[in-house]
Amino acid sequence: MSSGSTEFPVPGKTDPLAVVESVRVYVIPMRTRFRGIIVREGMLLRGPSGWGEFCPFDDYGDAASVPWLAAALEQCTGAWPTPVRTRIPINCTVPAVDPNTAHDIVKRSGCRTAKVKVADHPGSLAEDQIRVEAVRDALGQEGAIRVDANAAWDVDTAVRHIRVLDRSAGGLEYVEQPCRTVDELAQVRRRVDVRIAADESIRRADDPLHVARAEAADVAVIKCLPLGGVGRALRIAEECGLPCVVSSALETSVGLAAEVALAAALPELPFACGLGTLSLLDGDVVDSAAALTPVDGFVTVPSEPPRPDPSLLEAHAPTDPVTATRWLARLSRVGSLLGARS
Ligand SMILES: [Mg+2]
Repeated sequence: MSSGSTEFPVPGKTDPLAVVESVRVYVIPMRTRFRGIIVREGMLLRGPSGWGEFCPFDDYGDAASVPWLAAALEQCTGAWPTPVRTRIPINCTVPAVDPNTAHDIVKRSGCRTAKVKVADHPGSLAEDQIRVEAVRDALGQEGAIRVDANAAWDVDTAVRHIRVLDRSAGGLEYVEQPCRTVDELAQVRRRVDVRIAADESIRRADDPLHVARAEAADVAVIKCLPLGGVGRALRIAEECGLPCVVSSALETSVGLAAEVALAAALPELPFACGLGTLSLLDGDVVDSAAALTPVDGFVTVPSEPPRPDPSLLEAHAPTDPVTATRWLARLSRVGSLLGARS
């Protein structure tokens, strides 16, 4: 504040970014188009206790990005809860690819659980069926198959497609977010025998517990970066009372470590987690020895949070000034919103 100014900061409202010592922007190409993106961008924030990752997707506006920033600040200023397990079982993720590619992805992963993207476009059922069949062939009868429709179906379509895909899979472990609204999920759940998992209905909701109260799901997919950090995600898990699957938000190893810390701290972990996503990125900011790369279907819980490698930060820095400026502006706007709420 300049001397003589008549403007004063409001008491009790703080600048949440004051603790951040430096920031880096990264741009990492995706190996396969996923969630409609071909390049993953984000920021790494360095604070007094290490690094945090701020990487809301482009379709998150400033208000919806506030929890992402809270999570990044928790990472670089706080400590995580004590882990109750040393390794996390993970699922492999099969994008909307042809059956041969799907088969290869599952075989290469070493995972016992596969999550298969379905409903990628209208009229996809026949393709979804042969993809799911190829995944069953690769996994064998002991493996578990779940499908994710990313809210693409209406209730009747969901019921019909879930029954078909359940047969094609020889039994589905669960179907993730078949429809958009909590009410639709509840309707589908009453009409099918397959478990319903809620993903978008939790991470994008103003009230993440609505799903549980409405008896709209059997499983909650939780991601700590969109939910505001490990601590808040643990509270949501406890309050919703549903078995939880921790899933990544396509982070580098820095942000992924927060998701792993959440999975490591949950009292119960009955299903494999969606934390084997590092291979979707064509690069990482952490040295490969410290990267959270799955081995034989498990991610090992690191004894300390991975730190970015300076040369990899350089290698993945944006080559154009526009990208860095855009992220700095976004950080500033979201920081103001977070400060106004605290
Ligand atoms: Mg999902």
